[in-house]
Amino acid sequence: MAMQQTLIIFKPSAVERGLVGTVLERFERKGLKICGMKMMQLSEELLREHYAHLVDRPFFPLIIGSMTASPVIVMVLEGLDAIEVVRNLTGATNGRKAAPGTIRGDFSVSGQENIIHASSSPEDAEVEIKRFFKSDEIFDYKLNALPFLYSADEIEG
Ligand code: ADP
Repeated sequence: MAMQQTLIIFKPSAVERGLVGTVLERFERKGLKICGMKMMQLSEELLREHYAHLVDRPFFPLIIGSMTASPVIVMVLEGLDAIEVVRNLTGATNGRKAAPGTIRGDFSVSGQENIIHASSSPEDAEVEIKRFFKSDEIFDYKLNALPFLYSADEIEG
């Protein structure tokens, strides 16, 4: 159990379909803390870095087209085990296979147009947060609701 930060991208499929508020509400209601948030237009260069594990796949040009189709909203969320918590809320990559109740399961019927990106490991989260945010764009403030989100022993260590 560890306090973690994770990177979320609200993809053009969320921005264009007006789902940013609905999806953000799920994160807020879960109890995740917003540490940073901004809108930006992604470039092919940045996407080649971010999706380096997929550049050789035949569908990579589709990713570039899809992810540059509108500005995106990037966000840093924090919480205990936040990376796993957010991935569980996100659901499987393909919206058609993602479990109902998850973000992709509820809002996507596509493998590509799947609403959000969420970091998949602590190592990825660290690199991804640095990729999208300058240090002064991430806010280190005390969430006063913390004792109502976690028990004392959970937040002590
Ligand atoms: P995830 O987003 O669940 O971490 P990946 O890192 O495997 O999944 O893929 C990154 C993104 O690339 C996916 O969210 C999706 O937008 C796109 N993608 C992955 N696999 C496919 C595929 N087979 N066809 C089309 N797009 C894909």
